Amino acid sequence: MNVLTTAALDPAGSTAALDRLGDEIAELSVHLEAATARLLDLIREFDIRAGWNNGFRSCAHWLSWRVGLDLGAAREKVRVARALGTLPRLARALGRGELSYAKVRALTRVATPATEERLMEVGRAGTAEHVERIVRGWRRVDRNAEAREAAQRHRCRALHVYRDHDGMVAVRGRLEPEVGELLIQALTAARETLYQRTYRTFADADVGEVSAETPVVEQQQADALALLAETALHRGIDPGAPGERYQVVVHVDAPALADPEAPGQSVLESGEHVSAETSRRLACDASRVVMQHAQNGRVVEVAARTRTIPPAVRRALHHRDRGCRFPGCGGRFGQGHHIRHWAQGGPTTLSNLAMLCRRHHRAVHEEGYQVDRDACGELRFRRPDGRLVPEVPQQPKVPADPVTVLRAQNEAEGLVLHARTAMPLCLGGGLNVSYAIDVLHPLATRESEPS
Ligand SMILES: [Zn+2]
Ligand SMILES: [Zn+2]
Repeated sequence: MNVLTTAALDPAGSTAALDRLGDEIAELSVHLEAATARLLDLIREFDIRAGWNNGFRSCAHWLSWRVGLDLGAAREKVRVARALGTLPRLARALGRGELSYAKVRALTRVATPATEERLMEVGRAGTAEHVERIVRGWRRVDRNAEAREAAQRHRCRALHVYRDHDGMVAVRGRLEPEVGELLIQALTAARETLYQRTYRTFADADVGEVSAETPVVEQQQADALALLAETALHRGIDPGAPGERYQVVVHVDAPALADPEAPGQSVLESGEHVSAETSRRLACDASRVVMQHAQNGRVVEVAARTRTIPPAVRRALHHRDRGCRFPGCGGRFGQGHHIRHWAQGGPTTLSNLAMLCRRHHRAVHEEGYQVDRDACGELRFRRPDGRLVPEVPQQPKVPADPVTVLRAQNEAEGLVLHARTAMPLCLGGGLNVSYAIDVLHPLATRESEPS
């Protein structure tokens, strides 16, 4: 039976009938909120177990692709799901339908395990709008405290570089978080350049050998720092265009570039070996210097600081693809991937090119993902096992009466939900935000106390 018809059949304009309709809306909403709590639990587990990490950039990207949420809403769902992992009281209140998702979402922006209890009372007592205002005020107090901490951190920044007794140079320091992040990213990029990891999905062979000669992480970091210093000095400490940051010189044996299975080697200018797949990726959309060597070591071709893809074709490619074409990615910055590699005679034409972000360009070269065009010219992506990655996944079948199923599930969980479950304890009225925050916020309270 459709629940809505009960109210709709009553005589038009009857107040009692409209009250019942209102109650039904409220009751069904509570059921949906309780179901949302379970949905967030599932998302959290999926995220922790990296279920999305099969070609997607993040859990939010997967969620957006799989269930059709817009990316902003998907990110927010993942954020709230993660936050609730450390906020059991708020999670429980959402699961019992006592707090709406909108309130919980706002509260998770500021709540910590220490303040969760107080903020939950705010959530219970106020309307969604009250909660929003309290959270804004709360953040102001947090921001002031943060500003003091940031100033303190800035004063404490330091980098000590000194010669040790055995001639080694020791480096020790403390960097502000954003500067540290920059350093970590740069080291990661440099390490990736020096030590491309090869994922031989289909295979076989010498994985053991490769790992035997790979330096340990600390050694890789040291090499990465050296590369950073060198690169900075080469460029006269000029940051350059962002796209040029990963410029590298690759020396490739000509047969290796044309066929990754062919014997031969690819060596970076620094002397580090990279896999044939990696050198093909680097050469795919190169503003790099690719030097091809013949068997006797003679340089047969130097693509010297020219782009493999001419600017006009690149502009057309950007215009057509508008970012990474991997299903569900949508990354705005990309590299032109030759579907059939130019070293194998693939032309640099729009139909042979597809825009891919760094992450997915690696996926198709080094992780066994495949891309081609079908008879109609549409791009097709396949997982390493050959299964298609559909552009839009099929939605699961919805039962004929989803409302009944939802209620039955919530009842099976022992939830008693009714029209008043989520009602605020105080109805409307004046809300004194600054008073409320003074009483509730741990830092505000401390400041207002005489010391
Ligand atoms: Zn490519
Ligand atoms: Zn991508």
